[in-house]
Amino acid sequence: MNLKIQKLKVLPKIDPLLPQWQEDLAKLEPVAVLNWAQVRFSPHLVLATSLGQEDQVLTDMLAQVDPEVRIVTLDTGRLFTETYELIERTEHRYGIKIELFSPDSSEVESMVRQHGVNLFRQGVDLRKLCCSIRKLHPLERALQGSEAWICGLRREQSVTRQEIQVIEWDEANGIYKINPLWNWTDRQTREYIKDRDVPYNPLHDQGYVSIGCSCCTRAVVEGEDIRAGRWWWENPEHWECGLHRNGDSRTSIPIARPQPS
Ligand code: SF4
Repeated sequence: MNLKIQKLKVLPKIDPLLPQWQEDLAKLEPVAVLNWAQVRFSPHLVLATSLGQEDQVLTDMLAQVDPEVRIVTLDTGRLFTETYELIERTEHRYGIKIELFSPDSSEVESMVRQHGVNLFRQGVDLRKLCCSIRKLHPLERALQGSEAWICGLRREQSVTRQEIQVIEWDEANGIYKINPLWNWTDRQTREYIKDRDVPYNPLHDQGYVSIGCSCCTRAVVEGEDIRAGRWWWENPEHWECGLHRNGDSRTSIPIARPQPS
């Protein structure tokens, strides 16, 4: 296999080689995909972790490929205590620093004053507003200067993720998105964690599969959709926070962003 790699000073909107990359990378194991991504995009490559089991697998793999690749996470202010503890355990295990990005405090204050602290229960639009302010805006800052971001998405995770590719053009962020675990099963992920003794969130052992903010995450029972523990009061087609948006994830409520003084 001869994956063509070109180092470009100015990144084109979408490289014409993208379909070829998709075909070639789909044949590779995740570590080899990360290797390719490191050569192609570093130092403009970033792993965005939620500290979920897939992201912990990728952190472990990246430590083998290149521990210098940036790892970022979004501290929404409403994460589980176990997640904060896992950040520290992961940093210690791999000798790395995970960059935390927090929401703009004035945006949060204005949102909470207007709609209440648990606005996400009042409807999909307000839930998306909360996700925009606590996640999307910090993500935009976290991805600044990057040409590609690595994510732990798997096709098996939900109805909203069945079309993902190993590498895609992320229109919303204007960079490539790389999904090395795109075709992995839940079982493969768990076995990798066990085999390599990867640190993971103890909530996974209590039925929590996909773990986000504590107020919007619940444990699921066997047979339920993997994403059913997120925003379970909404219909399944809305079970995305907008980080991996496919056109319908933005709130229709206008967001007042603070002006520079
Ligand atoms: Fe807000 Fe819930 Fe989204 Fe967290 S997951 S940002 S609390 S709506």
